[in-house]
Amino acid sequence: MGRRESSRHAGENFLMGRYNPWRDILWETRPHTCVYCRCRLRRRVDLPDSATVEHLRALRHGGESSDGNLALACRRCNELKASHSLLVLERRLADAERLDRPDAKRLRLIVEELRRMEGNGHD
Ligand SMILES: [Zn+2]
Repeated sequence: MGRRESSRHAGENFLMGRYNPWRDILWETRPHTCVYCRCRLRRRVDLPDSATVEHLRALRHGGESSDGNLALACRRCNELKASHSLLVLERRLADAERLDRPDAKRLRLIVEELRRMEGNGHD
């Protein structure tokens, strides 16, 4: 791992830690609904529908911690998406649907939203 990679990962760890200033900023400026499943978000941090800071394009795939790449997502969607690329999520969705797994519906919402954003030139 190169120097640049390790500093990027250090930044990611900071943002995934307990205090993320973006969470407050997004909470003040964005609708309180999950960008993927549209559930109503809660401000407290420890629930399945708690608001989390979502990197639409993951840091490890070249996404930035900037206003345009950040959104509020519920903890369930954020954990399911993790830092996977759209390609990996599409494969996981195909598996989940083939096996009729309970996470298939949420994966589909995530994949559809990411495809929609890529179609809008979100890159
Ligand atoms: Zn959600």
